[in-house]
Amino acid sequence: KQSIIAIDGHSSCGKSTVAKDLAKELGYVYIDTGAMYRSVTLFAMQNGLIQNGNTDEATLKERLGEINISFKYQPEEKKNEAFLNGVSVEDEIRSLEVSNNVSAISAIGFVRKKLVELQQEMGKEGGIVMDGRDIGTVVFPNADLKLFMTASPEIRAQRRYDELTAKGDMVEFDAILENVKQRDYLDSTREESPLIQAEDAVVLDNSQLNKEEQLEWIIKVLKD
Ligand code: C5P
Repeated sequence: KQSIIAIDGHSSCGKSTVAKDLAKELGYVYIDTGAMYRSVTLFAMQNGLIQNGNTDEATLKERLGEINISFKYQPEEKKNEAFLNGVSVEDEIRSLEVSNNVSAISAIGFVRKKLVELQQEMGKEGGIVMDGRDIGTVVFPNADLKLFMTASPEIRAQRRYDELTAKGDMVEFDAILENVKQRDYLDSTREESPLIQAEDAVVLDNSQLNKEEQLEWIIKVLKD
């Protein structure tokens, strides 16, 4: 049976880059669970369920069944694109606005329940690299390998800033740094599945490692 590899860690520490590279190397499927929380957040924003930072949880709960999230592999760009009710939302879900609202949505128990079930279904056959915050602790506690990734907030904010500006987004570094720190705080202090390191996770601090070095490091851990 093919393995399940869980990658958890802080916001913007390069989990998805490593997860994608690793999936490619192993011939596995990469599943980005952050994209799912971001898609639910976008749905809530589009439907007026988030006003001034407050979420209308009762209505969101009622309408949860209307939210259909899927991924489609795009061979030209060699990446998985996220779809919300059949519409590609890959760019929209990465906006700073969605980033600012996603922690609140991902703290809601019924949202997590729906997404965790979907993630377990997607990964049950193995052959996956899944990244998020609770993959090694909640979604797949029996994962074959658990990685916990981290890097300093400044380095993470710089990476996110470079990514957004490369796409032409007008953003300020300080606003991104604030968002990164705020999400660390909210993700690790929430009641529902807070971001914690699984006891049997291997820690990868990639502040000083490039993409290739990180991949090499993980392949070595996998072989040991
Ligand atoms: O990984 P990414 O930064 O795209 O995730 C966006 C947000 O979704 C996180 O800040 C966190 O609040 C939430 N999330 C989560 N559990 C996951 C994946 C993401 O709570 N498994």
